[in-house]
Amino acid sequence: MTLTQEQADSYLKDGGIRCPFCRSDNIAGDELVVDQGVISQEMYCLECPGNWKDESVLTRLVINGSTEYHRPRNIQPRTWLRVSRAAHPNPRRGHD
Ligand SMILES: [Zn+2]
Repeated sequence: MTLTQEQADSYLKDGGIRCPFCRSDNIAGDELVVDQGVISQEMYCLECPGNWKDESVLTRLVINGSTEYHRPRNIQPRTWLRVSRAAHPNPRRGHD
């Protein structure tokens, strides 16, 4: 299944509460997987064949319920950095 940019934008803006394909709120997900600041979850729709994966990012640290520390916008989760390196391997390292 393919998704338009508008469908993806709508899903993300709504906070992932409706199927990005058919807009049904009858959706479900597998267990949460936590990996270095990224929480991912395989999701699927109960009304259409749609399935996708949510990735949520650690953005805030709260101490004693009051003091908040926010992740700087320019700091990427380590998991994402690892994925982007795998997708774009450095050709100069091909003969290690
Ligand atoms: Zn659906």
